[in-house]
Order: sequence, then C-alpha cells, then structure tokens
Amino acid sequence: MKKVTFDNPKEFWAKIDWVLLDMDGTLLDKYFDDYFWETLVPQKYAEKYGLTVQDAKEELMRFYRREEGTLNWTDLDFWSKKLNLDIPALKEQISHLIKIHPYVEDLLNFLHQIGKKTALVTNAHYKSLDLKLRQTQLDSFFDHVICAFDVGLPKEDKKFWALLQQKLEFDPQRTLFIDDSEGPLLAAKEAGIKYVIFKSRPSSKLPSKLPQNNFFRIEYFKELM
Ligand SMILES: [Mg+2]
Repeated sequence: MKKVTFDNPKEFWAKIDWVLLDMDGTLLDKYFDDYFWETLVPQKYAEKYGLTVQDAKEELMRFYRREEGTLNWTDLDFWSKKLNLDIPALKEQISHLIKIHPYVEDLLNFLHQIGKKTALVTNAHYKSLDLKLRQTQLDSFFDHVICAFDVGLPKEDKKFWALLQQKLEFDPQRTLFIDDSEGPLLAAKEAGIKYVIFKSRPSSKLPSKLPQNNFFRIEYFKELM
C-alpha cells in the first residue's frame, strides 16, 4: 500500500488535485449518530412495543448488523418502515447534537486556498444529509456533494468509485480520500484511488480507533496542514 507521509506537507499536497471527504465521523461528530441509534431509537422502540430498553437494544443491534455496509443501513425510510417509527422526525428532535469536528473548517479553507477540488462523499440518506447540511452549512465549503443514493451503491462497493470517477472526472492517481470507516477506504484503494487516510477519532465521546488495515491515520485534520 502506497504510504502517505507528512514529513513534507508541501510535497504531499503538490501530488493531489482532488480531496474526497466522508461526512459522518470524518467531518461531523459521530456522537450524534451513536446517540440516535444506540440510545434514542431503542428508547422509542421499547416504548412502542412494550419492551425493556435493553431488550429493544439487543433486537435493534441484530437488525443493524444485518444491514451494515449496504444502503439500507443509512436509508431512513427503510428504518421508518422496518421499526414503525418516524425516523426523520426523531432525528430532527436531536438536531442540536449535530456538531462539526475540530479543524474541519480550517482544513476546508486551507484546501480552497491551495486550489484543491473538494467533494463531500457520503452514504448518508438524502434526509440525513439535508438535516446535517442545514444544521452545519458545510456544503458551502465544497465543490460537490455526492450522496451514495444518487450513485445507487454504497462507498463500500468498488463500482461506486468507478461511477464517481466518471461523474467528477478526477484522476485517481492524484486523488485523496479520507474516511473514518475502513470498508470505503479499501474499496476506494482497490478502485485505484492512490491516497487514502483513516480518520481515527469519529466520536468526541470515544477514544481513537486503530485501523485493522495498514492505513495512514490521523486523529485531527490539523495534522494535514
Ligand atoms: Mg463515516
């Protein structure tokens, strides 16, 4: 695997034209999503079906696990139907918990200053994306916002990256992709994206993660500037 190093940031950035950035956990604090799926939804599900919160949690975890890495996983309409709860409305209720990670605006301003093209590339469902962009105005920093539902495949699928390349016309040899999940990084790598970085601190409330693969990793974006 091609090693990314920042011994010489100037040299590194000279090799890059495009920067693709994941949203949840990478730009935004994943605490919102964790709290939503692991605390709020189990509470509401337990109330609805007369279960203990613990039983609701166990049942939900089984459902979640089955859909990981697919578009169902982030499809709010899928979960509304499956759980018989108004998932978008519940998200709205806690939208004040949606927060941008430290140094994100700094990085995006920096990339703009040094003339890089940027795309936010997310598996998030339209309704999540819309809520999060309304809350954070992050889209104002990006040249493109790409939702996996428009592509029809999740970022974990190698074909996603070929379709994205056709759409944005980037040179994969001069492209950097940053994500807090390893599946999308592996797929991007396999599809020929030369530079990938693992963002190791998705949630402000949890410690950094160690990747299972040998990815270059950062905790905060200040390490790239
Ligand atoms: Mg993520």
